[in-house]
Amino acid sequence: MTPNIAAAKAALSHIQMDEKPATIRAKSRDFFWYSPILKARLDHLEADFVVNPASEAEVIEILRTCYAHDVPVTVRGAGTGNYGQAMPLAGGCLIHMARFNKVKEVHPGRVIAEPGCVIRDLDAFCKADSGQELRMMPSTAHQATIGGFVAGGSGGIGSVHWGALRDLGNIIRLRVVTMEEEPRVLEFRGEELHRVSHAYGTNGIITELEMPLAPAYDWVDMFVSFKDFRESMEYSEALANEAGILLKLVSLYEAPLAKEYFQRVKPHVEADDSLVGLMVAPHSMDGFETFTARWPGARIIYRSDNVTWDRHPGPVFEHGWNHTTLRALKFDKSLTYLQVRYSYPRHIELVEKVRAEFGAEVLQHLEVMKEGGKVMFAGLPIVRYTTDERLEEIVRLHEQMGCMIFNPHRYTLEEGGRQSTDRRQLEFKREADPKGLLNPGKMITWDEPDFDYSAIYAYKGMRPAP
Ligand code: FAD
Repeated sequence: MTPNIAAAKAALSHIQMDEKPATIRAKSRDFFWYSPILKARLDHLEADFVVNPASEAEVIEILRTCYAHDVPVTVRGAGTGNYGQAMPLAGGCLIHMARFNKVKEVHPGRVIAEPGCVIRDLDAFCKADSGQELRMMPSTAHQATIGGFVAGGSGGIGSVHWGALRDLGNIIRLRVVTMEEEPRVLEFRGEELHRVSHAYGTNGIITELEMPLAPAYDWVDMFVSFKDFRESMEYSEALANEAGILLKLVSLYEAPLAKEYFQRVKPHVEADDSLVGLMVAPHSMDGFETFTARWPGARIIYRSDNVTWDRHPGPVFEHGWNHTTLRALKFDKSLTYLQVRYSYPRHIELVEKVRAEFGAEVLQHLEVMKEGGKVMFAGLPIVRYTTDERLEEIVRLHEQMGCMIFNPHRYTLEEGGRQSTDRRQLEFKREADPKGLLNPGKMITWDEPDFDYSAIYAYKGMRPAP
């Protein structure tokens, strides 16, 4: 199967395209460079051409044409994903969804929108329209698209209350176009959502989403410091379990992360201060302050409803989730990170085990989430990188201690997930992408069903570095 790039490009020339090599290169990249392992493998990759559709009809036409000419297709929202998810391993056509960005309908409890909507804009639209907001968003909400979040993200601001994106009810409906001789338009709800959500665009292109909404609030940003990290974990867990206090974010940063990497927080903390960043609903502030006063080690150092700092720190959520890694990387390029699931009921015990094992080599950054109704921690620890071998060893040691790792140093769905086949995604790919042209190389079980995960997967169709 040899792609006929020139024929596909010529046939699509009436749809808006990017011609500048620098733009094509920029749109072929995401935040893969957070990982030294991915940086070494993916840095050279580029699409052959970039199309910017503005409607479902244009998406269908692109897919029909690329199918006819055997051209691989990778779809991109804003390219803020971290694992090369939106990078075209085999080159070909890159579909940039930025123009496909209308909010279609807002109803009590739900919004219908196109996938290229920037999450912040979609959220603002819902707030202005009816005093509602998205339940959940990544810390990249100011750049990322809602389609990219559903296809590539996992959770974020809001997950302390609502759980993960994959949890039932957090996506209502997806409309998807298939990659066939004559592309079909399908709609998924309930059980079937898992076929295409978090599938990296490997088995269909999302052209419409229906997402749940919650009442909007002017959330109060807070920073609370602790001298003892364990106490900050116990405080955060107990707070998230206070059913009457409405929270949107609880992030924990082990000392000295705040002192070293949070520029505007620095003057207000010592090197031995661990920090908790929070978003609290205004009507919950009385309850929050009463709760916090019961913890002898807790010290409120910042609140956005009464700012006493000379320099505004910016949104607290832009210190959390993967923004913590970004801030650390700005200071020290030798740092990287991991994604660790510390599940209930052993979450605090597991974090303590990891801290005892690694010390300053792995500094804890935790996000409080709900999983199955229980409070637990998603860890995005800051890791001091030395060699690939040591990084792999750190992963193995975490697993031996009983932590689940979602490896951010891998570009495939399986390795970044549970290292096993997602039957629903694979079966739908067989149906919806029979030639295997959608985001090739990202679903191992499509290419190599017997892969044993003993080493990093190396996709054979990847363009070699020049
Ligand atoms: P892209 O990166 O463009 O795409 C992501 C994946 O979705 C790709 O595989 C792409 O092919 C696919 N895709 C995009 N659009 C479609 C479509 N219409 N149909 C089918 N597939 C599609 N993630 C979180 O979950 N939570 C966080 O809090 C978070 N914080 C982050 C902080 C930083 C600083 C960074 C760099 C990343 C963070 N991420 C986080 C990862 C990422 O920002 C989010 O997942 C974001 O929602 C991705 O949206 P995007 O538009 O940039 O998607």
